[in-house]
Amino acid sequence: MLTLNETHDPQLKSWVSSANEPDTDFPIQNLPFGVFRRRQAAEGFRIGVAIGDQILDLRALRGAQVFDGGAQIGLDACQGNTLNALMAAGVDIWTTLRLALSRALREGSSLRPQLEPLLVPQSEAEYALPATIGDYTDFYASIHHATTVGKQFRPDNPLMPNYKWVPIGYHGRASSVVVSGESFPRPCGQLKPKDADQPSFGASQRLDYEAEMGIFIGPGNALGTRIDIDRTENHIFGMCILNDWSARDIQAWEYQPLGPFLAKSFASTISPWVVTLEALLPYRTAWERPAEDPQPLPYLTSERNKAEGAYDIQMEVLLTTDKSRSSQAEPARLSRTSFRHSYWNVAQMVAHHTVNGCNLQSGDLLGTGTQSGPTPEEAGSLLELTVGGQKPLELPWDEKRTFLADGDEVIMRAWCEKPGYVRIGFGEARGKVLPAQL
Ligand code: CA
Repeated sequence: MLTLNETHDPQLKSWVSSANEPDTDFPIQNLPFGVFRRRQAAEGFRIGVAIGDQILDLRALRGAQVFDGGAQIGLDACQGNTLNALMAAGVDIWTTLRLALSRALREGSSLRPQLEPLLVPQSEAEYALPATIGDYTDFYASIHHATTVGKQFRPDNPLMPNYKWVPIGYHGRASSVVVSGESFPRPCGQLKPKDADQPSFGASQRLDYEAEMGIFIGPGNALGTRIDIDRTENHIFGMCILNDWSARDIQAWEYQPLGPFLAKSFASTISPWVVTLEALLPYRTAWERPAEDPQPLPYLTSERNKAEGAYDIQMEVLLTTDKSRSSQAEPARLSRTSFRHSYWNVAQMVAHHTVNGCNLQSGDLLGTGTQSGPTPEEAGSLLELTVGGQKPLELPWDEKRTFLADGDEVIMRAWCEKPGYVRIGFGEARGKVLPAQL
């Protein structure tokens, strides 16, 4: 079981001075993992840990042979160009490696002379997907999102009767998950406006984003077995930001009866850094189900899950456009919310996913579904913010949006903060819409 320990101590400082800035996403209390190389360099992608505005090269660190025991075994699992082997190594190795990295990067560490040459500035880096993602499952865990979207289709009956009992999800497309910074063309497909007799083929006119968190699976479970809710944290490596781009017009026509398909499978953008569950420990909080709602079935609940099943992760969505960038305007903030409002939490999603004996595998990605807070301004998609495209958003540079235009870039950020602890962040998930390839 993960416990608070010396790596969470808010007094810790690093000899990497940028890690001590109050607004950094990557203080020494964070230590997220990612896959990087120097931009357009003739070198392979490799695993690193973010510290301040630098990346510590873990492949090179293994070569330096300054760690031993479980920490060196952890580095042995960091020799490839994906995190899958480290994800499979298990929570004891993750915890041991984190402690060794924390001690080595602290102010006063005797290892500084050996580690300092292994730093690469983030400003010189480019990133690859953190893992080879075998399967991507997307949940629908925010009741505020489900209710607001449901109202647009069924004003009298927004929530389906199963919603408060089942963590709803569907199997997404892993091959089109891309890392922050990659652009993609506006998707094409079948579109059928309500007043048309038949569909036509064309570029989506209702392209949207979805602000989600992503969950990376650590060690999997064997086919036919299930993961108990109180053992889920042994099977979760960490979390990232996820933008599950969605073509609402393609979706509206295709989704019945089997759910989303081509409306979602053209691109999903994740942040390059995976923040471990151990780093997120201080920001866990009570998970509450309203007393008037059905209480979860036994496999979806436990005392521990009630006490600290929710994660208070702040999430925000920003937008730039061709026009805003040409005038160097600041990105417009479209919304902000917290993952703590989620109706279903991370442990419940993993317990539910495996309750039928489905085997999760290291590197699998689960999306939480669009995270919208209780107020309209906290909505995690344009579909909600513009009421299905009826109420355009006014941008600060004299432009309006209902859905995304070509050239629009969506930037998602996430971070945790709490009195008595150091702020930690996820970096960002950024993606730009290119013109359709008709
Ligand atoms: Ca989604």
